[in-house]
Amino acid sequence: MKLTVLGASGGISPETGTTSFLLGDSVLIDAGTGSSRLSQEQMLNIRYVLLTHSHLDHICNLPFLLNTTIGEMKHTVEVFALEHTIEAMKAHIFNGVIWPDFAKLPTPENPALRFNTIKVGDDFVLDDFRFQVLPAEHTVPTVGFRVSTGSGSFAFTGDCAKNDQFWHALNQYDPVDLLIVDDQYLACESVISKAAKHYYPESLSEDLQKLESHPKLYLTHLPPFKKNEVMSEATKVLSDWHPKALDEGMVIQFPLASNA
Ligand SMILES: [Zn+2]
Ligand SMILES: [Zn+2]
Repeated sequence: MKLTVLGASGGISPETGTTSFLLGDSVLIDAGTGSSRLSQEQMLNIRYVLLTHSHLDHICNLPFLLNTTIGEMKHTVEVFALEHTIEAMKAHIFNGVIWPDFAKLPTPENPALRFNTIKVGDDFVLDDFRFQVLPAEHTVPTVGFRVSTGSGSFAFTGDCAKNDQFWHALNQYDPVDLLIVDDQYLACESVISKAAKHYYPESLSEDLQKLESHPKLYLTHLPPFKKNEVMSEATKVLSDWHPKALDEGMVIQFPLASNA
């Protein structure tokens, strides 16, 4: 399994983009600004897009991707998301005002986009990847994903704050090799962190104690202009976990190398 990090930032900068991961050649998890790194050939290979939630930093490039490839794409892009996320995108993005309704274009019979509803607990296979839909805690309905193939597995919290359900759900499955967790804030920003429902190092440390395994830990959604401060604090608070920052352009191959 090959995981390419297109975007892993809590914001934008010349070097960073928001959440989007490419699995193999055909699957996107989230479609934030980071997915603008895709070449034309890579865009045309995308068959499936899994969305964690409706926030703009996770969906904003999907309309552009479809607009760029319409007429060239040989297949309908299947989008998998919670009903809340799908309804939000229909009402506020693909509404004929902000952007055309690509679920009906270029023709209703062969549209650019098809929505598929998922829910927590779902378990399905797309290409070679098995996905399990995990609960998460955020300001809007949000999911995380557990992804596995014969060569390895990882889990992604999506945007997430302190909770029991994500960790309880993950404990029900075989341990993953790697865990990608949202950590946007510093301890001194705990008030806004709790309001925005993102982890900060202390709250993540408390929740990691609920996990019955010890996967490699990568932090994502780090703020672009305070990334080093958050990583410095996280490295101290999460010293047992040796967290690493998930960086744009990073390619993670499974089975994991020992220094991954
Ligand atoms: Zn969010
Ligand atoms: Zn986000």
